[in-house]
Amino acid sequence: MPWMKAVFEVRHKDILGRIGVLTVGGKKAETPAFVPVINPVNQVVPASEIAEMFNCNIVITNSYILFRRLRDEVRERGVHAVIGFDGIVMTDSGGYQVLQYGEVEASPVDVALFQEAIGSDIATPLDRPTGLVRRGQAVKTVEETLKNVKATMEAVGPSSRCVWSAPIQGGLYPDLVEKCVDEYRGMGFSYYCLGSPTPLMTAYKYDKLVSMISVARRRLGPVPPLHLFGAGHPMVFPIVVALGCDLFDSASYALFAAEDRYILPYGTARLDQLYSLPCSCSVCGSTTVKELRQMEKRERFRLLSLHNLNVCFQELNQVRQAIWEGRLFELLERRSRAHPALYQAFQAMLEDTQLIDLAVSQTPLSKRRGLFLYDRYSLLRPEVRRAMAWLEKFEVNKERLETAVLVNVWSTAVKEHTTLLEKINGLVNGRYELFTYGTVYGLIPYSLNNVFPYSQTTTPETLIRSLENEIYEKAARTLSKAGFKHVYVILLGRDAYPGFAKGLTNHLTQALQAEVKFVKPT
Ligand SMILES: [Zn+2]
Repeated sequence: MPWMKAVFEVRHKDILGRIGVLTVGGKKAETPAFVPVINPVNQVVPASEIAEMFNCNIVITNSYILFRRLRDEVRERGVHAVIGFDGIVMTDSGGYQVLQYGEVEASPVDVALFQEAIGSDIATPLDRPTGLVRRGQAVKTVEETLKNVKATMEAVGPSSRCVWSAPIQGGLYPDLVEKCVDEYRGMGFSYYCLGSPTPLMTAYKYDKLVSMISVARRRLGPVPPLHLFGAGHPMVFPIVVALGCDLFDSASYALFAAEDRYILPYGTARLDQLYSLPCSCSVCGSTTVKELRQMEKRERFRLLSLHNLNVCFQELNQVRQAIWEGRLFELLERRSRAHPALYQAFQAMLEDTQLIDLAVSQTPLSKRRGLFLYDRYSLLRPEVRRAMAWLEKFEVNKERLETAVLVNVWSTAVKEHTTLLEKINGLVNGRYELFTYGTVYGLIPYSLNNVFPYSQTTTPETLIRSLENEIYEKAARTLSKAGFKHVYVILLGRDAYPGFAKGLTNHLTQALQAEVKFVKPT
């Protein structure tokens, strides 16, 4: 077996997001993980403090800066001692510097052997970030990255003590992203990184970010851990996790703080745009916006960095909670309202049918909490798509009965169930097949009563109203295919909204070659 492997164990899943544990040489980190970038020569908030405050077990630092500025010290003492962090230390290759300053001064092999020598837990071959470039240039970046990775893996050999990450480049060109994944697949990697999201995020091209991650995740398959390089802002955490990114690093907390920018879960504000501090973290609870503006620059830099870190880790915890509850989609629906570009990205995700098919296959069959649906986009969530598909496939009226009874009340308790059947038997003669109506799912055979999510779905009346015709037509199709001769529409208690049951009856009367009766017991 070549070089050391990362072990990734998935505990909970939702959409393509998962809560998991990444183990690297005996050290563990829970995912999804926000991986703070530690500047080795200027730690505005020391890595050890981040570890303690936020229970953070993985950080990333820049091997290029270490190489340029602390070469001998870090070789001697090791990267953990130099940055003061004993969890998982990942090093990036300096590929970002290639993007910013054109070239690095060391060869790919130098960079690799250096990362190994300083004891990096997860090391990165020298990649060439694609960024937002024309195709010809993108092809070059991918060729160079692949060439560097091959040279690196040959140089470090099979006994390497690092987990080596596989840097996926190609940016907005799906075939190039796929080419990277395909090349790496045979090489034995256990940790993949997707590059170049930062220019997309800076330009608010979140929809393009969605398609780039989608291509990489689909090509990789649902299993291996995927790290997104430089995913700067907590407002993208829910969507990048939903798309299958398990780790994402960022230096934004410090870069923004250096420019007096205050991160919010839904955006960023300059300090002079704040009326008060809309946060209750340890920093914001003990200072005011006025004090922050007036304090000495270095101290303000530190406090803003701390606040920004707080928001990142808080949002990360929200994402984990949402996965555990099975409500990541609902978090996405809320967060996508933070910016029109993010909303567009959310729509792009839902229109990506291949991605959603993969998400349907990964989303658990039942969840801790019921579903909240809000609008037509909610109908595209994996659980609803799956539930609709099951209904399409379900064989109705196997016994060739003549009568269908449609009732609007769900009943899960046995006692209520018996009462419901007694009530219906008092109204209908002979044997019948029972369905319920009044939800977005259309007609649900009663035998699916307890199957998630049919009776665990909460919908506003307005959504059912806006789907009225579709629901009626679907009901007519189901009943007509099954060949019933008599249909009873029974209304017990409250209707979905006033007139829904009557409307269904009228529609079925028109559409079916059957006798349709509306019954409202008193
Ligand atoms: Zn705060």
